[in-house]
Amino acid sequence: MGASLRSNLYALLLLSTYAGADTSPTPVLQANQLHFISANAEFTLLHEMGHLLISELQLPVLGREEDAADQLGFMGLFLLADKQRDRDFYAKLLDVADYWRLEWQRPKQPDEEVYAWDSHGLDAQRFYNFACLAYGSDPKHLEWIISATGLPDERAFYCPEEYQQVAHAVNWLEQHFRRPAGTPIQHHIQVIYDPPPKSLRHGAQMLAKVRASGELEAVAKRASETFALPRGLTLRLTSCGAADAWYNRQSGELTLCYERLAHFQQLAQQLPRLRASESQQISPAATRQQQP
Ligand SMILES: [Zn+2]
Repeated sequence: MGASLRSNLYALLLLSTYAGADTSPTPVLQANQLHFISANAEFTLLHEMGHLLISELQLPVLGREEDAADQLGFMGLFLLADKQRDRDFYAKLLDVADYWRLEWQRPKQPDEEVYAWDSHGLDAQRFYNFACLAYGSDPKHLEWIISATGLPDERAFYCPEEYQQVAHAVNWLEQHFRRPAGTPIQHHIQVIYDPPPKSLRHGAQMLAKVRASGELEAVAKRASETFALPRGLTLRLTSCGAADAWYNRQSGELTLCYERLAHFQQLAQQLPRLRASESQQISPAATRQQQP
């Protein structure tokens, strides 16, 4: 499922950037940039699904909810990929880690800045947390992630344990909250597409392709099939005026903003520079160029 979802999202993003959809000249994104946008759209959705599950299933949370949602989102990538850990999947993990690095490094307006008092970890911390879990998920094969991300040995040493701890927690919640086999699905997650903002370039095509990809429906279906949700919920793609996403626990609505997808697209322009510096560190076997 993961591969087809992913290729559909690529198609969406290709269309939103190709000059063929418009008469104005538009830079065409490279394949690795499209991978990046798709992977991070998926992770954003899964992070918010983490908030949804924490709230709706009343999961016990130790530590910050934002960290727990990141961990649930991380494990969601594995679940969506049906535990298929191929080179393409590993590259997806690096795409999400790289997003946090780019977010950390980019100059921000004061209202965009994440401060020490925030409920979210600092961008740099989320970058290292993600890199640590990615390496820890398969330390035998993913040692290159340490050098590619610059994860210090002092942290990397404990990452296999960190990953095992997160995997254990997710297994536990699956066992305790899984919908009993053979019982009907009581509540679903409805997917709603609002019109894109007029200011978003190729917004109509973006909407058409997201809808055609079926990705939002697939994630919603997976969640309602796996867990016994206590009420009907909503997943909405909409215009928010900011590159955001959130879960509203009162209304039971998960919002993913068109502007967030556009933000990934914008950040992806910096990927060649970042990848050039990383490629000095990564072993040839792990580079994207060698993927099928
Ligand atoms: Zn969050």
